[in-house]
Amino acid sequence: MRCIKCQAKAVTEIRQHNAAYCAEHFFGHFENQVRRNIRRYRMCAEKDRILVAVSGGKDSLALWDVLVNFGYQTAGLHIHLGIGGYSDKGLEAAQGFARARNLELITVNVAQDYGMAIPELAQTLRRAPCSGCGLTRRYIFNREASERGYNVLATGHNLDDEAATLLGNVLHWDMEHLPRQHPALETTHPKFVRKIKPLYTLSEKETATYCLLKRIRYHADECPNAAGARSLIYKHALNEIELNSPGAKLRFVRGFLEKARAALSAQPVALRECLSCGQPTTTERCAFCRLWDQALARRKKSQAVRLASFPAL
Ligand code: SF4
Ligand code: ZN
Ligand code: ZN
Repeated sequence: MRCIKCQAKAVTEIRQHNAAYCAEHFFGHFENQVRRNIRRYRMCAEKDRILVAVSGGKDSLALWDVLVNFGYQTAGLHIHLGIGGYSDKGLEAAQGFARARNLELITVNVAQDYGMAIPELAQTLRRAPCSGCGLTRRYIFNREASERGYNVLATGHNLDDEAATLLGNVLHWDMEHLPRQHPALETTHPKFVRKIKPLYTLSEKETATYCLLKRIRYHADECPNAAGARSLIYKHALNEIELNSPGAKLRFVRGFLEKARAALSAQPVALRECLSCGQPTTTERCAFCRLWDQALARRKKSQAVRLASFPAL
């Protein structure tokens, strides 16, 4: 297999583009994709202050690396979810990356800063961990970005993530989320920052290859709560399709953005500030405050019951 640019020995094959590259030309391909995505949807400009959501995995570290190389003003934000060794390894990878490049990394520890870790939140509310976790992460990312003066939040969602989300939304005809699936979501409130996904055309394989060739040490473990998640089932199904029809994921996502999305209209929503935390919401108190207040109240109640059943001897 030869590089399509220089005929040297190729280190990777990108079937969706019917291409193979040597290391140098693979970096060129990767950066061109990101540059094109940023330009196409006017994701960010030099003056922007970009907060990069950094889990410590391949996608977020590849994204941060490229944005820094492009010269953007960035800092990283890592959320420690308290999911055992999985979370510790993510933090280690994010810190190692930032330290080696002298970059600013902001860390939020959910257990210390909000009162309990994600597994305890799920257990207390008797809900699947992912529902509370997703809401919590989205809330913290936006809140930290807006309160610290960043106007853009960049996440490492890749092509596989976007295709799986789109498939899920289409299978359920989720008319609330379909119009909001976009690689650059403009702000609709002064306290909402712009959300961008510059890697949305690059596959998991490409972000992993980027990190391996750049010797970026990333955290490769899957969250223990992801087993059986619908998104993984959709990813497996899409991988099967991609195997027989290279480029299918890219055509699916691009086709939706270029041909279908405009026909779907997002219902305008009236936003107000949450009475508890001041973050934008459609209700009196935001979903995050309602969820966390409920969890903290339940824990207090069960602690009181436990104390009452074991009176001091
Ligand atoms: Fe959170 Fe893990 Fe679920 Fe992802 S898989 S949403 S990290 S609990
Ligand atoms: Zn080459
Ligand atoms: Zn709130």
